Amino acid sequence: MNISAKDIHLSYGAREILKGVDIHSENGEFVGLIGPNGSGKSTLLKCIYRILKPNAGQIFLDEEELKAMSIKKSARKMGVVAQHNYYNFEFTVREVVMMGRAPHKKALERDNAKDYEIVEEALKTVGMEGFAQRSFSTLSGGEQQRVILARALAQQTPCLILDEPTNHLDITHQLQLMRIVKNLSATVISAIHDLNIAAMFCDRIYALKEGRIIAQGTPREVLTEDFIRQVYQVDAEIAKDSSGQMHILFKG
Ligand code: ADP
Ligand code: MG
Repeated sequence: MNISAKDIHLSYGAREILKGVDIHSENGEFVGLIGPNGSGKSTLLKCIYRILKPNAGQIFLDEEELKAMSIKKSARKMGVVAQHNYYNFEFTVREVVMMGRAPHKKALERDNAKDYEIVEEALKTVGMEGFAQRSFSTLSGGEQQRVILARALAQQTPCLILDEPTNHLDITHQLQLMRIVKNLSATVISAIHDLNIAAMFCDRIYALKEGRIIAQGTPREVLTEDFIRQVYQVDAEIAKDSSGQMHILFKG
């Protein structure tokens, strides 16, 4: 399944935040969205996962326009790991992950053995199986982030939208989370603020600045020394490790 956003405009009041953005992720492609703070990454993702309504433009899952789809139907196709996850009630970790099963159920349909199995499996995948009974609100930011990924895994969708999913994670869990997502072979659009993480995992990258896409291509094509200087005002050197993986070295 592919995701396309075409000519997206979004304003908060009189201020235009997205000024005609096009972004596309092919079936099974891992697409990264980079750009300085405030460039509009979260706003664009919120349009895609239906928290915000664009003022103009269209979003498609394959050929079907998102706004013509019920929320429940789009939730069967697209899972979300957002940046902030607050619940107004006390939920256990298992209950939070079980919410990922909701789009697959009829109203008032009970959770069955299969649902429990999927939830346990998802918790195991993110290394949180010992936490099922814990209250979600008592977890650290990084643990919460992994539980929210488990909820998205339990949702079993062909597409995933992630907003800086590795933010609260130590390096072990950053790499773990990215590997888990990569191995799903889902169609992914993820805002990523660490350029080296983006370089390691993305098939393609879009760079957003002041509400416009200013570059797109493979990590190697986009993440050049000139580009980093222009967009982030930082001097950098692009290096290669022994496996051929590119690394960006930032200079003080
Ligand atoms: P990014 O995720 O790239 O850091 P955001 O999409 O969160 O950027 O924000 C883009 C711009 O929109 C920022 O200048 C931010 O202050 C502004 N913004 C975000 N949310 C709101 C809101 N609810 N009301 C007004 N302005 C907002
Ligand atoms: Mg953001």
